[in-house]
Amino acid sequence: MNINNMITFEYQYIKKQEDVRKHIQECEGKHTQQAIYSTFHDAITQICYGCKKIRTTIITTEQLNTTHL
Ligand SMILES: [Zn+2]
Repeated sequence: MNINNMITFEYQYIKKQEDVRKHIQECEGKHTQQAIYSTFHDAITQICYGCKKIRTTIITTEQLNTTHL
């Protein structure tokens, strides 16, 4: 695998769906992005290649272990 072809995305947990939508609107027209709606989680995930960030309302188990809810 050529390492130059790899992009590292930063995981960003966002509590509210509307806040993810705001980020999607801000990146729209500027960045290449994908937005995914998960019916199972009732969650929105934005993958932005410009910001190199994954913004999601899905909390990972990793996050759960480090965050005291
Ligand atoms: Zn962006």
